[in-house]
Amino acid sequence: MAGAPAHLAEMPADWQRALAIVAHPDDLEYGASAAIATWTDAGRDVVYVLATLGEAGIDGIEPAEAGPLREQEQRASAAAVGVSTVEFLRHPDGVIEYGTALRRDFAASIRLHRPELVLTLNHHDTWGGTAWNTPDHRAVGRAVLDAVADAGNRWIFPELAEDGLEPWNGVRYVAVAGSPQATHAVDASAGFERAVRSLLAHRTYIEALTDQDPEQYSRSFLESEMKAASARFGGRPAVSFELFTR
Ligand SMILES: [Zn+2]
Repeated sequence: MAGAPAHLAEMPADWQRALAIVAHPDDLEYGASAAIATWTDAGRDVVYVLATLGEAGIDGIEPAEAGPLREQEQRASAAAVGVSTVEFLRHPDGVIEYGTALRRDFAASIRLHRPELVLTLNHHDTWGGTAWNTPDHRAVGRAVLDAVADAGNRWIFPELAEDGLEPWNGVRYVAVAGSPQATHAVDASAGFERAVRSLLAHRTYIEALTDQDPEQYSRSFLESEMKAASARFGGRPAVSFELFTR
């Protein structure tokens, strides 16, 4: 890929708290959750914030029914990799707008949870080549990268401090999962089985998506993702990230 190094560097480990902010239920389970399992194993705290309930994600199920179902599946997914705090901002699925309202919500979450590492999903136009990304992922990923700075500035969104959310300037890294311009990776062998279970927790979504057996689907997807990263990471099954440092 253009701009991507031949070898992936080891993800930094000098952090304790991570906040993952993504658009939809399942965004973290298509790869990142294997890394998250290894982090919670090491005693690190990880919190999930979802911009939407993913209510527009299943063709055969009305949003009013799909939203609560997917919320429940996401909580089970998180629990499978040791994450117990999952928050939903309830932006409208599929039509999330990049803008100050989104940045403000993310800045509020960052100030509340005070992470050193922020995790999000691919903000680029494509997944690499001509595989076009979705507008929600682009909007959320870019707003997360922007909100990290907003969270540290008292005079951007001053109403947040009035609500007791003091500025937090402690984010040192933003790691973007699923990026076609990955720079870093983490050995995620130990998290693989739990990652399969975390993806499998989105059973309603997967059953609507494919005729394949859900477990076989989850296992083979994650295997091929981790194998692709391993080719650039000394042969170790890995999850890759594009890392932005501050
Ligand atoms: Zn998504």
